[in-house]
Amino acid sequence: MREQNDRSSGQEPHFFMGDSAKVVSPFGARGGNTGISDADNLAWKLAAVVKGQVKGKAQKVLLQSYHAERHEAAATNVQVTQRTARFLRAKDGIERTFRDATLHLAKKHAFARSLVNTGRMAVANPYAHSPLTSPELAISHSVQNVEFEWGDGSRGQLNDLLKWAQGRALLLVWLGEKNAKAQLAELQASDLARRARIVCVARQAQQVRAIESVVDASSALAKACHMASPAWSVIRPDSYLAASSSQWSVAAIGQALVPLASA
Ligand SMILES: Cc1cc2nc3c(=O)[nH]c(=O)nc-3n(C[C@H](O)[C@H](O)[C@H](O)COP(=O)(O)OP(=O)(O)OC[C@H]3O[C@@H](n4cnc5c(N)ncnc54)[C@H](O)[C@@H]3O)c2cc1C
Repeated sequence: MREQNDRSSGQEPHFFMGDSAKVVSPFGARGGNTGISDADNLAWKLAAVVKGQVKGKAQKVLLQSYHAERHEAAATNVQVTQRTARFLRAKDGIERTFRDATLHLAKKHAFARSLVNTGRMAVANPYAHSPLTSPELAISHSVQNVEFEWGDGSRGQLNDLLKWAQGRALLLVWLGEKNAKAQLAELQASDLARRARIVCVARQAQQVRAIESVVDASSALAKACHMASPAWSVIRPDSYLAASSSQWSVAAIGQALVPLASA
């Protein structure tokens, strides 16, 4: 996890992941799972730097975000697994009293069953302290691999779009009822297509107006981006949300892409 970046000694940054970065109690399958998440978090950042997708100061911000994000995740995972360990092997005193009372009550009452802690399964940790997340969004969540329709009516999934984006940020644009033409013209006039892979999201098949379009009739994509009525969302290659807004603004999109793709 910790990035060692001692330029004075001429060393390149080093990154630690998996059990070399942290050790969690073996409850809830968090050891191996979060080790894979560490790799998932770092791989696309290294690739973006190597491929020159980010330049100058943005390179350092992108690489340092690995520590900011995965250290936060590790701290949560250590805390969660320690709580399980303490429930299973409760110390004498208040901890044991609480544990025994919970087990006793759980036989009869549903509320107490939710307090029985034999392991909380690994989840995709949210990032609350990431320099890659837009200030408006504040917390970056993993976006679920939801389904949508391609323009021809066949079914696709978010992961198909991320694969197609080939390690670049994915910009989803929800075309407005009245201003779709103007939105497309603004996008074409901007440098955004060089910095991200752009996909227009239509609410109905009839609204498909661009080649890279998908139909989100059930609003599954919008919900996965944690927005009731989004105008645009930026999804990172590791499927985390970097920015999302209900206000259409090419300038704001450009700003959100700064740490992910240089202009
Ligand atoms: C009993 C048990 C059950 C578990 N169950 C689960 C589970 O159900 N789900 C889950 O997600 N996690 C589980 N875990 C945790 C999970 O196994 C570890 O978190 C995971 O294997 C860590 O992966 P890693 O690649 O970081 O390290 P490791 O798996 O330890 O891999 C490190 C590798 O580096 C090699 N190595 C070490 N030093 C050197 C060197 N100097 N040169 C070259 N090679 C070296 C080692 O031989 C090893 O092959 C469990 C762990 C245990 C002990």
